[in-house]
Amino acid sequence: MSQSEGRAGRAVVAGASLSWCGTTSTGRVRPLNEDALLAEPPVFAVADGMGGHDAGEVASALTVERLRALAMGDDVTMESVEAELQEVNSLLRDASPDPDEAMGTTGVGLVVLTGGATPSWLVFNVGDSRAYCLDDEGLHQLSRDHSYVQDLVEAGRLSREGADRHPHRHVITRALGIGPVVEVDYWVRPVRPGERYLLCSDGLPGEVDEDEIRALLRDRPTPEAAASALVERAVDAGGRDNVTAVVVDVTDVAGWDDTTTAERGHGAPHERTVRRPPPPAPPAEGSGC
Ligand code: MG
Repeated sequence: MSQSEGRAGRAVVAGASLSWCGTTSTGRVRPLNEDALLAEPPVFAVADGMGGHDAGEVASALTVERLRALAMGDDVTMESVEAELQEVNSLLRDASPDPDEAMGTTGVGLVVLTGGATPSWLVFNVGDSRAYCLDDEGLHQLSRDHSYVQDLVEAGRLSREGADRHPHRHVITRALGIGPVVEVDYWVRPVRPGERYLLCSDGLPGEVDEDEIRALLRDRPTPEAAASALVERAVDAGGRDNVTAVVVDVTDVAGWDDTTTAERGHGAPHERTVRRPPPPAPPAEGSGC
């Protein structure tokens, strides 16, 4: 197993005190780690590359490097994230001279938006990497998988349990680098003290069920301990795919008013889902195994 050192840090971003750690492993089967992670506040992201001849590694690395440059620039907005992801999509397409050798990547991320009176999270997703939030009500998957089996589940043709064992569970329906325009899902939600976020590649839920993910996130006191425990558990459980976890804790938010917690709850009116019109997107063979 080849496991990177955890990339940990802490910072105050727009009044939000954050601490984080990202960890990744090649796992036990794959020769290369085609996952990449970014922990560069205000941007946190995971990308899971795919494509022949090491192209997946290139695609995921390019994606996080472009997002890193965005993070180190001026104010990051939904519009600048969207523009950057469309640019990444074009770069990856241009870098694949043979459509049969196309390289692509998933991309899931968390961005602190600073435009309001209090900071907000922008969550974005393309593909089947995931964003979760753990709060005192439990573990919530914030992102929606863009996958063949997710479509079957939502159509009522497959159970959630059946999806986990389906032979085509790794076929994804959206990715960066595949179509002329990429459709990205976005959600906006407040930055709340006490919440813990997880970004992960499919190598984690592919090996560890959500009850155990919740328990590991809940029981580990620091992002470093939680990220390490999640990745180690996935590798111990089989490690059939690359596995990556980025854990971000919100330890405090300046000026946070507890009375606003009356509004809390997933799907509350202040949590906006922003969807762009869907362009045609051919299915892509999955983010790995
Ligand atoms: Mg994967």
